[in-house]
Amino acid sequence: EERLRRLRDRVRPFPDFPVPGVLFRDISPLLKDPEAFRTLIDLLEDHLRVSHPKIDFIAGLDSRGFLIGPPLAQRLGIGFVLIRKKGKLPGPTESISYALEYGKAELEIQSDAVEAGQKVVIVDDLLATGGTMCAACELVKRLKAEVLECMVIIELKLLKGSEKLKSVPFYSLLQYD
Ligand code: 5GP
Repeated sequence: EERLRRLRDRVRPFPDFPVPGVLFRDISPLLKDPEAFRTLIDLLEDHLRVSHPKIDFIAGLDSRGFLIGPPLAQRLGIGFVLIRKKGKLPGPTESISYALEYGKAELEIQSDAVEAGQKVVIVDDLLATGGTMCAACELVKRLKAEVLECMVIIELKLLKGSEKLKSVPFYSLLQYD
């Protein structure tokens, strides 16, 4: 599709970032271009309206999930909740540690962010190994909420991260090998 091609044109590859051997996909040009940014949110909104007519919250992953989650939640007329790196959220939290493509990390959600039975879509910019998204799903499930879908702009296919998500539906706009 023409719109997807325009988005793909605005993702920049950076070899050896943040460590040697990693090809980093940089979405900065996409965010800088207001038409491309709007098209991005249009496409994600269209997908969610068709696939999941009843969503309670969009949950965004620290930190690039915070760039696309809020505009999307506003379009859908629903709230946005934060899933953050360790030590950033006040009050009672659930936390989980997980393995990254390069390193290790810990994610947290406020214990009252979502209620039991609520329906959540988790968003991030990119799925690599799937470790981050998988940990986020676990956090939402610990609060007894339902993960309707995990959604990203970019999926790195070769890393097979979507297989780690098992039964949770997964959606990506752009796929790279
Ligand atoms: P995973 O846990 O799936 O291995 O890594 C995904 C997480 O790392 C996401 O939060 C994503 O923002 C970040 N990440 C890993 N590689 C890249 C990359 O090439 N480009 C961007 N923009 N983010 C990346």
